[in-house]
Parts: sequence; structure tokens; C-alpha cells
Amino acid sequence: MTKLLEAILIEGIESGNDVQIWRCPLPLPNALRAVNGYLMRGGGEVVAIDPGFHNEETIGTWERHLAKLSLRWEDITSIVVTHYHPDHCGLAGWMQRKTKAPVWISQETRNIMKNMWGVSEEFTPTPWEQVTMPTELSILFSEHGMPDSWGIRMMEHFHSFQELVTPQPIKAHCLDLVVGAKIELAGLAWSVLKAEGHASGQRMLWQAERGWMFCADHVLPDISPNISVLVNEDANPLETYMQDLQAAQHFQVKRAFPGHRGVITRWEQRIQELLDHHEMRLEQISRLVRECAPVQAWTLVPKLYNKIETDQQMRFAFAEMIAHLWYLECEGTIFSERKEASIWFS
Ligand SMILES: [Zn+2]
Repeated sequence: MTKLLEAILIEGIESGNDVQIWRCPLPLPNALRAVNGYLMRGGGEVVAIDPGFHNEETIGTWERHLAKLSLRWEDITSIVVTHYHPDHCGLAGWMQRKTKAPVWISQETRNIMKNMWGVSEEFTPTPWEQVTMPTELSILFSEHGMPDSWGIRMMEHFHSFQELVTPQPIKAHCLDLVVGAKIELAGLAWSVLKAEGHASGQRMLWQAERGWMFCADHVLPDISPNISVLVNEDANPLETYMQDLQAAQHFQVKRAFPGHRGVITRWEQRIQELLDHHEMRLEQISRLVRECAPVQAWTLVPKLYNKIETDQQMRFAFAEMIAHLWYLECEGTIFSERKEASIWFS
């Protein structure tokens, strides 16, 4: 196993009785290279957080992580899913069946997972024609100027995740991550916090006494989390993101455990950097719209992002552009006009 995918003890001591947190990196076939699963041990419990994709490579990596901690699958007593992105939630249904542990997941996350990849709690995926969100997203992207050739690639890209998130967690064995609730995990009390914008339904877990935060992809150490757009969900995800970031800034956090990369120790400053980054982007984009008006979102993408190599990078860049345009439109800086099946900004 490469060093990148080795489990690392980040809280607690190796042989102590106190709560231990292990960062358990899982393989990711893109530039990020790894997504963080976590194992938390304490109070006679073993909690697995964000189990990764459902594929053989991830299962094998978990087996090595568990072996390093002298644990077996059956020792896992609960599973937490922070958000609906497949690199975080994909294996949850499989792990639930393997361990018989309940899955803590928000109701919104479960709903979006079903809209994105189908209702199946079975190992057989839902027929792709019956899954609504990818088609709706393709229409949205086309309205914003994405050419048909790219539209086809996007559909294939969405479809490619379906087997990586199948089967989905069984509803009867899910526990709802309700915003504002306090839940007990590993013998400690955790507050459930809303952390949306990167992903609708995303939740963070905060432990007040120790100043610990499982912050999912809401705050990342050296990457600006992508802002997602969906159909019939949040109409201004960037505003939601910035509001939830500002709210998160007020919590006392000594150490935050993100969905990618290492522990965050500069919580408030890191959040401020992310807020500043989006303010800067909003200024750039409103200037671009003024220069190019009337203009479609698609045309603006290469003016802001010069190194797009993969379908995933294109989806992220395009969604991020649309999210910023929606924000500027909601605050009245720019306006949009529909001409037949296309949307133009001025
Ligand atoms: Zn994510």
C-alpha cells in the first residue's frame, strides 16, 4: 500500500482508553487522489465516517485499515455519511449490510442520492432511464450553453457513478442527521451542523468540549470546495455556502477533520480565506459578464479556468460558474434572459 493510503492516528494515543480518531484515506481516481474515511474508537464503539466508493479497491483498503487497528468489519457499530457525493457515500449501503450497523445520514442526502442514481436498495441498479436528476441537469447545462457533444459526455459521466453507489443504505436502518440535534458517538456528544452549498444536505459533526469538527467537504485545507448546482433544490447554493461558512466560523474548533487532505488547525482563518476567494470570484465574474453581455455561462468558463482536462473538471467548473451567476442575479448585480431554450446573462 502506498503511504498516501495508510491509516494515521490523528487523535488519542495508541494504547489509551480515550477516544481515538484514525484518518483512513481511501483511493480516488482523480487529482485529489484520496478521500478521507475516518474510524473513531471510544466508549466501546467503532464509528466509520464516510466510507468512500463502492468498489473492490476501496473495500480492500478498508480491510487493511481495519487490520492495522486489529478490527473486523463486525466491530463497526455505526456509520456516518456526511454528504451525497459518491466518493463519500458510495460504500455506505454495502458497509451497512456487512456490519449490520446503522447509517447516520441526513434525509436530504438520502433523497438526493435516490434522485441522482435511482431508488435501488438492492445490488441491481435502477434502470438508468428511470433516474431523473441527471437528465434534468443535462437540460440545465444545455440551457446554459453546453454543446450537445458535451451533454452526452456529462450523462455518461453521471452514469459512471451509479455502480459505485449501489446498493444504497436501507432506509429502515438509517438514522437522520437532523440539524441542531445532539447525537452520541464513541461515548461523546456531537452537535449536528448544517453545511450546505458544496452539497445540499451536507452535515458536520462538532464536539464542543474537545473542539473537534468532522467538517466533510465544507472546509478543506488547501482546495476551495466546489459549489454544486442541482435542479429543484437550492436556487442560490453559493449564498447558502457562504452563510453556512459564516455560521461555522463561530464554533470553537481546535482541530477539524476534512473530507480530503490533513487536519485543519486554522479554522477561522481558513474559512475567511474561502469567503474572500468567493468574493474575489464574484467580482471577476460580474466584470466578465459586463464585458461580454449578453453571454452564456458556458462561454465564460474558459475565460476563468484555463486548465480543464477531464469531464469531472468541466462539470465542476461549469457548475461553479452557474452558481456564481445565480448568486449575482439574486443580489441584482446582473440579470438573465431566456431566449427559447437558452439563458443569457447581462
Ligand atoms: Zn464532496
